[in-house]
Amino acid sequence: MKKQKIYLLSPKELSPEVIAVTFAKTSRSPLSFNEIADELSDESSAEFHEKWVVGYGHASVAEHAVLHIAIENISRMAIECIESNRLASYTEKSTRYQKWDSDAFVTPPELIGDPRQEIYEETVKMLFQTYADSLLPTRAIIQKKNPRKENESDAAWDRRIRAKYVDACRFLLPAASLANVGMTANARVLESAIRKMLSHPLQEVRQIGEEIKKVAQAEVPTLVKYADASPYLRNFSQYAIGKTKNTSSTSSSCQLIDFDPAAENKILSAAFYRFGESSFANSLAYIQNLSKAKRAQLAEKLLGSMSRFDIPLREFEYSHYTFDLIMDQGAYFEFKRHRMMTQSPQNLTVNLGYATPSLLAEAGFESRYIAAMDAAAEAYHQIGDPHLAAYLVPNGFNRRVLASFNLREAYHFCQLRAAKNAHFSIRKIARQIYAEISKYHPLLAKYMRLPAEETWQQHLK
Ligand SMILES: Cc1cc2nc3c(=O)[nH]c(=O)nc-3n(C[C@H](O)[C@H](O)[C@H](O)COP(=O)(O)OP(=O)(O)OC[C@H]3O[C@@H](n4cnc5c(N)ncnc54)[C@H](O)[C@@H]3O)c2cc1C
Repeated sequence: MKKQKIYLLSPKELSPEVIAVTFAKTSRSPLSFNEIADELSDESSAEFHEKWVVGYGHASVAEHAVLHIAIENISRMAIECIESNRLASYTEKSTRYQKWDSDAFVTPPELIGDPRQEIYEETVKMLFQTYADSLLPTRAIIQKKNPRKENESDAAWDRRIRAKYVDACRFLLPAASLANVGMTANARVLESAIRKMLSHPLQEVRQIGEEIKKVAQAEVPTLVKYADASPYLRNFSQYAIGKTKNTSSTSSSCQLIDFDPAAENKILSAAFYRFGESSFANSLAYIQNLSKAKRAQLAEKLLGSMSRFDIPLREFEYSHYTFDLIMDQGAYFEFKRHRMMTQSPQNLTVNLGYATPSLLAEAGFESRYIAAMDAAAEAYHQIGDPHLAAYLVPNGFNRRVLASFNLREAYHFCQLRAAKNAHFSIRKIARQIYAEISKYHPLLAKYMRLPAEETWQQHLK
């Protein structure tokens, strides 16, 4: 009998394209992976990719070539496009744990030398100055509430309490603010990400796309070679802009607009189906005929013994909820990271008003905050072009996003984002989503672990 073997194809020894071909060739070759890899060179791998991945469309082979791309000093606006790929991984500079210097912003290339450049840069600088000025008074309030511990250094004390005041000050930071992001992606998703970037309405994003393509090609010369702008994607950037106007209230909101009323029975039936032998129709009929108490017992079996490290079974995906949400841009920036959801964000504008953190009022800073936000809104209108004007919009302004997800993802999102250490803006959204789902599907929602007491209300005016 052949001996079981498990080993690594190390990226320290083999290039990503060679690794991808090595795996691809196991489909037709009786050799071991090591033997296949020994026969390959960068050139023969490139030929293989040209023929199979590019020529015959066997694109999944490219998933075995993984790249880690470091992207620095780009705008938070540009990050939205970069992070819009479900199958990639990201970590970015946090607005909760770091502070921003006054020159840490992007001027979009379209505005350089344009008469609007002055108003743009003045507005961003004013927002950064207001942000910097808000740090001391808000910190003083938080320091009073969280006194220094014995022998705690200034730096350690500030580290411990920083998020508590920066969480409020970050409402002033515009989308032009600089950020760094680390991206891990396989060559297949990277190709699609590059196409999206090269087709983007913002020049900054297109330039980043070119640069990413260049650095990726040094590592995977064939697999991203044909990633080009797509006229199909480009057309959508103009779709509906200016044709519809905001007509609803401008405070944050959470509307459940679509869901399957029978989802609980379908999930229970799917679990019953998976662990039994009957057809789905029979499983559903069986579950529908059970008493409420019996269904509750099944729910307990499915969810009752879950620890905080467990996730509900995949059968929880036989459900869907669609929400029309309004949240501040800071919350949206975190919300967008939930890749498993289907999300349709509208453009970032000033048309839905802004939220005001209570801490700024407590620190005597509310009038400065309002003046800054109102000035940003005025400058937004002066810039005109909605894509360019969006750079000026601070985190406190509201954003509308349509989001659809299943109960499995709802468990993950609500538990993670309603947790005490989450930012109060996203805690509010997680709580609202949880409340809506619980209204219609109490049997299965009741096992979500959310903190009993909630305090987001005290953080927002
Ligand atoms: C306390 C805290 C601090 C944070 N700080 C930062 C920060 O400083 N910087 C920053 O960039 N982000 C930060 N985040 C965001 C975090 O990194 C996640 O991007 C975000 O919480 C979304 O979570 P998720 O990836 O689990 O969710 P989703 O994308 O919704 O995924 C749902 C689940 O699917 C699975 N999954 C999805 N994709 C993959 C994958 N590629 N591989 C394996 N499993 C996958 C996982 O089980 C995941 O939990 C922070 C989050 C928290 C809670």
